[in-house]
Amino acid sequence: MHDPLIRVHSYESMGTFDGPGLRYVVFLQGCPFRCKYCANPDTIDPVGESKLTDPDYILQQAVSMKPFFGKRGGITFSGGEPTVQAEALIPLFRRLKDAGLHICVDTNGGIWNSHVEELLGLTDLVLLDVKEINSARHEAITARPNTQTLRTADWLETHERPFRLRYVLVPGLSDFEEDLHTLGEHFKDYRQIERVELLPYHRLGVHKYKALGWDYALKDVPENTPEQLQKAEIILRTYFPQLVVN
Ligand code: SF4
Repeated sequence: MHDPLIRVHSYESMGTFDGPGLRYVVFLQGCPFRCKYCANPDTIDPVGESKLTDPDYILQQAVSMKPFFGKRGGITFSGGEPTVQAEALIPLFRRLKDAGLHICVDTNGGIWNSHVEELLGLTDLVLLDVKEINSARHEAITARPNTQTLRTADWLETHERPFRLRYVLVPGLSDFEEDLHTLGEHFKDYRQIERVELLPYHRLGVHKYKALGWDYALKDVPENTPEQLQKAEIILRTYFPQLVVN
C-alpha cells in the first residue's frame, strides 16, 4: 500500500531562515488562519495551485541533499499550515527519521488532534508562531483565538519537545508594550524554548495579494522603524536571554 499523497505548494532547496543550518523547506498547502500579513497567501486555500505529491519524492530529495545539511541542517515543513495534513505526513516523518534527517515543523499551533500530537512527537524542532498573546488581538490578526496555540506550547513544554517561539512585530497590531510583557511573563519559565525569534513585519508578500485579486488589509501599516524593533527587543530580552532578532 502506498503512503498518502501530500499537497505541496512549493519548495526551497537551501533555506537558511526556517530552522537551524541549511534546510530543504517544503511549503504545504492549506491553512485555517487568515493572518492579515500572511506572506504566502497563496498557500491558504486548501487546494490552490498545489500539487498532490508522492512522499517518496520528498524523501528522495531530502536524502539527496543530506550531504549539504551538515550537522545542524535538515528538512522543514512550512506553509500554509503543515498540521492540516498531519495524518498524511506521519509515515513520511517516520521514514525521514529512519534516514537520519532532522525535521522542523513551522506551525501556528492552532490545530489539535491525535495525528497532530503524533506528528509533533516525531518532530525534532517545532517553530511555533505565536501571533499575539492577547486572544482578542490574536483574533483580529488571524480570525482565530490563540487558545489552541497556547495549549500546543504547553504540550510541547510538558512533553519535553524543544521549540522556537516566533513573534512577528506588526505596528499597531502586535507591538503593544503590555502584550510583550504578558508574552514574556507567560513563557519565561518554559524550559523547552531554545530560542525566541523576534521578526520584523515586512510587506514582501503584497504582490501575491494582487495576483489573487485580494485586498491587502495592512496597506496603511508601515514596516517597523529601528526604534520600534529595539524597544520590543529590550522588553523581550528581559524575559528571554535566548532572544534573536531576525
Ligand atoms: S498561519 Fe501562516 S500560512 Fe496561515 S495565514 Fe497565518 S501567516 Fe499565513
